[in-house]
Amino acid sequence: MGGDRTVVVGSGLIGLSIARALTARGVGDVLVLERGMLAGGGTGKSSGIVRAHYGVPSIAAMAWRSTPVFEELGAAVGFRQCGYAVLVGEENEASLRANIATHQRLGIDVDLIDLDRLAAMWPMMNVDDVAAAAYEPRGGFADATQLALHFGQLARAAGARVRQQCPVARIRTTGDRVTGVELVSGEVVEADRVVVAAGWWSAPLLADLGIPFPVEGYRSELIVVDAGEPLPDLPVVSDLVSLQYCRVEGAGQFLVGNSDHGSDHGGEGGRFVDPDDYSNVAAEESVLAYAEKVLHRFPGFPAPSVSHSYAGVYDVPPDWNPVIAPVGDVAGLTLCAGFAGHGFKISPAVGDLVADLLLEGDSTDPDIPASDFRLERFETGDLLRSPHPYAGAGEMR
Ligand SMILES: Cc1cc2nc3c(=O)[nH]c(=O)nc-3n(C[C@H](O)[C@H](O)[C@H](O)COP(=O)(O)OP(=O)(O)OC[C@H]3O[C@@H](n4cnc5c(N)ncnc54)[C@H](O)[C@@H]3O)c2cc1C
Repeated sequence: MGGDRTVVVGSGLIGLSIARALTARGVGDVLVLERGMLAGGGTGKSSGIVRAHYGVPSIAAMAWRSTPVFEELGAAVGFRQCGYAVLVGEENEASLRANIATHQRLGIDVDLIDLDRLAAMWPMMNVDDVAAAAYEPRGGFADATQLALHFGQLARAAGARVRQQCPVARIRTTGDRVTGVELVSGEVVEADRVVVAAGWWSAPLLADLGIPFPVEGYRSELIVVDAGEPLPDLPVVSDLVSLQYCRVEGAGQFLVGNSDHGSDHGGEGGRFVDPDDYSNVAAEESVLAYAEKVLHRFPGFPAPSVSHSYAGVYDVPPDWNPVIAPVGDVAGLTLCAGFAGHGFKISPAVGDLVADLLLEGDSTDPDIPASDFRLERFETGDLLRSPHPYAGAGEMR
């Protein structure tokens, strides 16, 4: 066994949640190293949606374990428990029912909702082409940056240190052990454990040690729509018919994300990008396509107009699910990255799982088997996939 000094590379939600979980369990020497600013990576772009609707049971369980954290923190992290609905067409009705059954076995508060009831909750919404919908009353949305800062604050209060503007150049090893990291400045930081939580940027750090982490930067576009009048607290909607997701954003605005991951808009709207070099506005053709879908689903908005757009980048492994596991032939090295568009809502449980792995050697939650998140699955082809996927909805489920 090594000592207690732990370096976490990356101060997004995941790195800070890990620091929080480790210090909460008494790990005294935790240092988070961040090349830029806290929450300045994918975390700062997150839509912050909270829901447990996932086809992969362990991911659904992580989302459900995380829900009470949002409920306890409430306004401190901008949590609005406005509910969450998934809409499907006929082709996905059987998958919806199967997923709900799995979720209910996991204890998740979800059920089918009558479409008339949904339309009454959501007076501007057209449900004519919706075959069925599920509803989670405990879902909603929160602010990812606030949650990350909150985790950082908890970790620091419990003894962790955080250094910003401090890029890690490489991970250091001797024989079969990790010994720390070297910063771009040349400074060497010694550690007994290194947890790489650097999103897409984890790959080059591991490649340097000969450990392949297949991950791509998937550019995801969002538009913000002025509804034309103040909006009440409407449920978040995952619309798997039109392939979009939507939630209220401030007074009278509406955030709309693209869920059509099979489409390739080309040019600046292209799918795979360098996360250090991508366009932060939606391509014109995308804005038109998204606006059309919004008008179809929400014809009741009195005077809708597109306010602005932006884009973020998901870190996407081949099965769109994360690696949370020890990696390589060296002791003391753990990877926690590849969260694609899911990392926000499950971040509390992810920190707890990493603490379990480092301190107990395995997951302590039978609904969240550590074996699901091994890196080796990409080599063996044993990918982590939903048993009941939604046709047309890509791998996001
Ligand atoms: C547009 C968008 C919308 C999303 N919406 C949702 C949502 O609604 N719900 C949901 O659950 N999830 C959502 N997500 C996903 C979620 O936000 C991410 O999975 C999560 O924030 C990722 O956190 P992270 O800590 O893994 O990565 P990041 O936030 O990217 O953090 C990694 C950090 O590592 C740092 N770093 C990189 N290299 C180095 C180095 N060499 N040395 C030191 N530091 C380094 C980076 O600067 C960065 O700060 C969304 C993501 C995007 C992009």
